[in-house]
Amino acid sequence: MDEKKLVDLAVEMGFANAALVDTRDIEFIPAFRPLCEENLCGKYGVNYCCPPDCGTVAEMEARVRRWPRAILLQTLWDIDDPLDERQTKPAKGKHNKLTREWIDRAGIPGLMIGASGCNLCNPCAIVEGKPCRFPDKKFSCMSAYCIFVQDLTDKCGMEYDCGPGVQAFFSLYCFGEPVY
Ligand code: SF4
Repeated sequence: MDEKKLVDLAVEMGFANAALVDTRDIEFIPAFRPLCEENLCGKYGVNYCCPPDCGTVAEMEARVRRWPRAILLQTLWDIDDPLDERQTKPAKGKHNKLTREWIDRAGIPGLMIGASGCNLCNPCAIVEGKPCRFPDKKFSCMSAYCIFVQDLTDKCGMEYDCGPGVQAFFSLYCFGEPVY
């Protein structure tokens, strides 16, 4: 499938916007990592895909740079309080599910980065000291990668802040011929 078709497929499947970017244009900010340590999402230390178990920022950046291209996927939601997890959590879950469905239909190898951390099992197997149950499907979120999302949306011509009452969520899928 050529790249334009990947974008068309995303819009056809219900994403508000989709755009292509070179992974070398994605900026990583290691100074964001302490935000994960505040554990507002409750996944710090209890999920293979979240810090500290997901790896260092440098290791995660290398995982992304391995793929030359990426598609940024955006959904929009009627959410009046972006800090209200009762509203944001289900929306992020639906965004991630749609991302997974898009990956299945696109049918190309790559790396998924979610709007929130891996929620394929509850709880994550790490809590029971067992190996990851779905190593081929697990995914970390933008925050765990320390990706500067607002910079990325600017580069992709998307709105990061959509104004009162509307919340945008984003995922990435990195693909192309691996460079190492
Ligand atoms: S797939 Fe399951 S076990 Fe693996 S990281 Fe995700 S939640 Fe944890």
